[in-house]
Amino acid sequence: MSKTKDTPVASHPLPSYLNPDHLGPWGIYLQQVDRVTPYLGSLARWVETLKRPKRILVVDVPIELDNGTIAHYEGYRVQHNLSRGPGKGGVRFHQDVTLSEVMALSAWMSVKNAAVNVPYGGAKGGIRVDPRTLSVGELERLTRRYTSEIGMMIGPSKDIPAPDVNTNGQIMAWMMDTYSMNTGATSTGVVTGKPVDLGGSLGRVEATGRGVYTVGVEAAKLSGLNIQGAKVAVQGFGNVGGTAGKLFAEAGALVVAVQDHTGTIHNAKGMDVAALLEHVAKKGGVGGFAGAEKMENEAFWSVNCDILIPAALEGQINKDNAGKIKAKMVIEGANGPTTPEADDILNDKGVLVLPDVIANAGGVTVSYFEWVQDFSSFFWTEDEINARLVRIMQEAFAGVWAVAQEHKVTLRTATFIVACKRILHAREMRGLYP
Ligand code: NAD
Repeated sequence: MSKTKDTPVASHPLPSYLNPDHLGPWGIYLQQVDRVTPYLGSLARWVETLKRPKRILVVDVPIELDNGTIAHYEGYRVQHNLSRGPGKGGVRFHQDVTLSEVMALSAWMSVKNAAVNVPYGGAKGGIRVDPRTLSVGELERLTRRYTSEIGMMIGPSKDIPAPDVNTNGQIMAWMMDTYSMNTGATSTGVVTGKPVDLGGSLGRVEATGRGVYTVGVEAAKLSGLNIQGAKVAVQGFGNVGGTAGKLFAEAGALVVAVQDHTGTIHNAKGMDVAALLEHVAKKGGVGGFAGAEKMENEAFWSVNCDILIPAALEGQINKDNAGKIKAKMVIEGANGPTTPEADDILNDKGVLVLPDVIANAGGVTVSYFEWVQDFSSFFWTEDEINARLVRIMQEAFAGVWAVAQEHKVTLRTATFIVACKRILHAREMRGLYP
C-alpha cells in the first residue's frame, strides 16, 4: 500500500454525496479505485479524476397521469468521464434508483468501455419510478419529458443512452424521436438498443449473453475447465442469463439450476434450455417448468456446479452465501452482483471471478457497432457482428488475464488496472483545460 502515498489528496473536502465512508454503490466503486491506485504508476497523479463524476444532472420529470393528476419523478443523467470519447451508458427506470447508484453505474461504464477499448467515456441515467405502475401512455410521456430535460447533455457525439433495467427498444425509439423533434433532424445515433427497423443493430439483443459466454470459454481454456459436461447454474433467465445459458448448453455444458423472480429449479442431469426459454417466454418465468424439480431459493447458492452466472440484480452474492458457493468460476452477467466482502471470500476459496466490467461488456460493444452503423448508414450482417464481438471480447479478456498474472491480482483489479490506465493516459495526453 505504500505506493498510494504518491497519490495526491483532493484539494477540497468531498461533498457529502461523494463521501467514501457511505458504502452505497458509489462507496464500493471508490474502494475499487483505491485498490487499483498502487498499480497506476505515474498516472496515479490523475486518479482523483476517477473519483469525481464530470457532470451530474438531476431533473424534475412531471407528467399528467391518465386520471388527470400531475405526478413528479426524479431523473438523473451522470457523465462520469469523457476523456476517451462521448458518454455511453444505459437508462434505468426503477423505484429504488438513487444518485449514488447512477454515479457508480456511470463510473463502471467508464471502466467497462475502456476495458474493451471502445471509444467512449462512461455515463448512466435513471428515473426513480416503478414503471409497472404506469400505463403505456404515461410511460411514453415520462420518457419524452425526461429526454427533453436531459437534452442539453445527450447527443450522438456527446452522450449516447441505451436500455438498462426496465427500459427497452420501444423506450429508446421514443427517446430517439423526442431528441430528433427537439433538434429538427432525425438522429438515430443518439441512443443505441433501438429496434432494428429504426437503426438498431442485428445481434444486439443477444450480445451481452454472447460476451458472457465468450469470456467464460476463454477463462475455462486458461484454467483447465472443460465446457463439455460442465455444470452451470444461472440466476436470472432474462436477456443476459437466458442467452448465456443457451450458448453454454449448445456447447455441451449442463444447465443444472436456474433461479429467477418466480423461483428456483434444478435438474442434475441438465435441462432442455430451448424448452425452458419457450416456457419463460410463455409464462414469464422459470417457475412450473416441467423439465426440472422446484428447489428452495436459498439452496441455489450451494448447488453442485462448475460455473455460476449471476445475471439478475446487484448484491446477490454476499457475505452470507459466498462461502456456500461450489462453483470453480463465477461469470458476472449482472452489474455489481458480488459485494466486496463476498469478492474476498470467493478469492480466498480460489473461485475465479470474471468481473462484470469485462464479462458483460458484450452489450456495449454491439451498441458501439450500432452507433458506427448509424453514422455510416451502412448495416452489417449478424455473422459479421457476432464475429467482431467475439474478437473484441477475446482480445480484451486476454489482456486482462495477462495483467492479472503479471501483478498476481484478481481479474477485477486487473480489469480496473487496464481500464483506468487507458482513461488516465487519455486524460494526461489531453491535459487540463484551460
Ligand atoms: P432482464 O429483465 O431481461 O432479466 C432479469 C432477470 O432477473 C429475469 O429473469 C428476472 O426474473 C430475474 N430476477 C429479477 N428479480 C430477481 C430476484 N429477486 N431473484 C432472482 N432473479 C430475479 O434483464 P437483463 O437485461 O438480462 O439484465 C440482467 C442484469 O444484467 C442486470 O444487472 C443488468 O444491468 C445487467 N446487464 C444487462 C445488459 C444488457 O445488455 N441487457 C448489459 C450489461 C449488463
